[in-house]
Amino acid sequence: MNKPESAAQKAKYPDIRRDLERQRAAILNDVEEVLTHRGGLATFPDVSDQASAEVDQNFSMRIRDRERKLLKKINDALDQMNAGTYGICERCSGDIPYKRLKARPVTTLCIECKTLQEQEEQARG
Ligand SMILES: [Zn+2]
Repeated sequence: MNKPESAAQKAKYPDIRRDLERQRAAILNDVEEVLTHRGGLATFPDVSDQASAEVDQNFSMRIRDRERKLLKKINDALDQMNAGTYGICERCSGDIPYKRLKARPVTTLCIECKTLQEQEEQARG
């Protein structure tokens, strides 16, 4: 089978696609909630609460940064599904096992390549 059958590829992981879409919807919902609540900072009456409000703000900024990155990965994964390249390791071009995709739908590496990559990162310090 030399040419990719994109229709079959698209239908290959319908439950993972649902997981990704659910996750994306949840993140967008969270982000919206954070933005909505930011308008309510005036509800902190004294200075110590003000300080913790700033901590909260830093925290939510970090969360948002992480969510933004995850959101990009989710969009990439959905793009790959549409293109029929989802579930293929970007390093060795092998199939990523379904179990790994199910546990971590945004992964682009099989376990062997992920392990190698981590070892390389550690070696670089
Ligand atoms: Zn690989």
